[in-house]
Amino acid sequence: MSTNSPWEAALSQLDQAAALLELDPGVHEILRNPKRILTVAIPIHRDDRSVSVYTGYRVHHNTSRGPSKGGIRYHPSVSLDEVKALAMWMTWKCAIVNIPYGGAKGGVVVDPKELSRDELERLTRRYASEILPLIGPDRDVPAPDMGTDEQIMAWIMDTYSMNVGHSALGVVTGKPLSVGGSRGRGDATARGVMYVTEATLKHRGMKVDETTVAIQGYGKVGSPAVRLLEQLGCIVVAVSDVHGGVYNPKGIAADALAEYHVETGTVVGFPDGDAITNEELLELDCDVLIPAALESQLTGENAGRVRAEVIIEAANGPTTPEADVIFEERGILVVPDILANSGGVTVSYFEWVQDLQAYFWDEDEVNMKLRSIMERGYVDVLGLAEERKVPMRVAATALGVARVAEAHTTRGLFP
Ligand code: NAD
Repeated sequence: MSTNSPWEAALSQLDQAAALLELDPGVHEILRNPKRILTVAIPIHRDDRSVSVYTGYRVHHNTSRGPSKGGIRYHPSVSLDEVKALAMWMTWKCAIVNIPYGGAKGGVVVDPKELSRDELERLTRRYASEILPLIGPDRDVPAPDMGTDEQIMAWIMDTYSMNVGHSALGVVTGKPLSVGGSRGRGDATARGVMYVTEATLKHRGMKVDETTVAIQGYGKVGSPAVRLLEQLGCIVVAVSDVHGGVYNPKGIAADALAEYHVETGTVVGFPDGDAITNEELLELDCDVLIPAALESQLTGENAGRVRAEVIIEAANGPTTPEADVIFEERGILVVPDILANSGGVTVSYFEWVQDLQAYFWDEDEVNMKLRSIMERGYVDVLGLAEERKVPMRVAATALGVARVAEAHTTRGLFP
């Protein structure tokens, strides 16, 4: 089995949780299979009037607890295997924080940086039209992921609304405030990562102001994470993006790095630090490592060289099952993605609730409710991990699987 495959990894995590729960074999089999898979061809006119055709996906893994929810990724390495895994992780994630959603994910095999803004809009509107039968406020509610942003969500919302004949704010989340976005959504994933980091440090008796942190990825999650962890009092010693990284053992000033990134489009070359590669960042001598870029970054090959005491998974699927085994043997705590990065989907849920009620909350209210949900999720997962003496990932998956299985059993099997 190639466990660098996200789908194989997701299945093996489910199987492990099922064994722990002594899950009903029928329910286990249902959960091993995504509910729906749609593959679409997306033809668009390029700016020179030539035609390019892209491949897109939308996968619903499970909808037993409510409409499905999950981001849309634009990246050249998107594959059905990856989208299926991400959809399954969304199912567990929503159940762990106990919000009434199932799991979905979408993606287009494209490098959005190679398209003009007009081309990106045409691609997005055509992709949205192709997946239209699957999405809707009561069915499936997409959100941003790697390579997509709030403008893309606004185009999807508009495309859907034009088709149904009225403004449907609740069809996507992560939208701009002007079209039903939520205050606090932009930072929500990183803020959740901060709450989870804070809870972990407290639980392990580590002093926040002596804690050094390395963050891989400086996008919608990584960049606010640098600022929020600095606010928490940690020392962020290294940050990277796709081009490379920067390291300063005394700490990297979040504001200065953000300004530099606006000017140059990368963290590479930031003057107040030394150049470092992504590989070096992952193996850095630090207390907390936060992968916030891609999946399969911590593998059987490099896990033995990781020196962090704690790994907080801001990205989805950054650790392969082989690496998990090595971390377990070496006593490195992994706070899994389906718990650590669930702040994003939690505030997406708040956005959807606000859209459906047409009543919007202030940012303090959003952050307060987010903290309370994240802390509850953390306590639930940690409690189960300690009770059953299993790693947090196994406990988190088991908690999610148990809640979804309960919904299946309660509803019964149709027809
Ligand atoms: P993004 O596109 O905004 O940023 C991705 C970052 O990763 C960029 O800085 C990019 O340069 C960097 N990167 C890309 N390839 C890399 C590589 N090979 N090595 C090192 N860095 C690389 O994406 P995002 O929304 O910040 O998402 C990052 C991760 O967090 C993904 O795994 C995503 O699924 C997960 N996630 C995102 C959200 C959200 O709200 N955006 C929520 C939950 C989970």
